[in-house]
Amino acid sequence: MATTGGNLLQRTRCVYFRDTAMACNKCDPGSGCAAISGFNRTLAILGVSDACIASNPSDMNVALTAFEAVVHNIQGTRGARSVTIDDFFLLPDTTPERETVLEPGDLITHVTLPPPAEGSPFLYLKLRDRASYEFALASAAVVVTVTGGRVSHARVVFRRRGHEAVALATSAA
Ligand SMILES: Cc1cc2nc3c(=O)[nH]c(=O)nc-3n(C[C@H](O)[C@H](O)[C@H](O)COP(=O)(O)OP(=O)(O)OC[C@H]3O[C@@H](n4cnc5c(N)ncnc54)[C@H](O)[C@@H]3O)c2cc1C
Repeated sequence: MATTGGNLLQRTRCVYFRDTAMACNKCDPGSGCAAISGFNRTLAILGVSDACIASNPSDMNVALTAFEAVVHNIQGTRGARSVTIDDFFLLPDTTPERETVLEPGDLITHVTLPPPAEGSPFLYLKLRDRASYEFALASAAVVVTVTGGRVSHARVVFRRRGHEAVALATSAA
């Protein structure tokens, strides 16, 4: 049975990451990224770096980011802390081998979502190459708060982003 912690932390589906014969900075820092000039139609467009274009594979991460989830974790023997999901995932930059703020020995205990504001329609749209048992080619989660007939807050999250699915728009209209 899959778990929330496991889904948050599942590794990228990038085929160059999964093929040990290929150069991958995530597997072997400094070795290069074969995906950048390779077969990369499933990989990230936004939030990439010269070191890595792997995308985050999780559907749940996209939805949790739209809902502004908070990840609670025990930090080894150093106590506990809570971080917003926006801060939980790290961009690849020059250290793609590091995907989250977790340190060795940390354990996610639970994830909480703030209660949705009244009048908050939401949608998750997933596009994939086949109908079932398939990771997203691209997906988006949208949460909109409507106050007095006007959009007062919106979060739009795309899953074609390196490491994390991040809110690209939080605005009043
Ligand atoms: C055929 C197939 C299709 C799939 N399709 C999709 C899909 O379309 N969309 C999607 O989102 N997912 C998909 N998945 C992923 C799947 O649903 C699981 O979420 C994912 O594989 C993680 O599995 P798990 O929960 O058993 O985690 P595990 O494999 O047990 O854990 C993953 C990692 O997280 C660490 N970990 C787990 N729990 C914690 C914790 N509490 N604290 C700290 N570290 C922790 C583990 O040590 C490990 O390193 C698919 C999987 C398969 C096999």
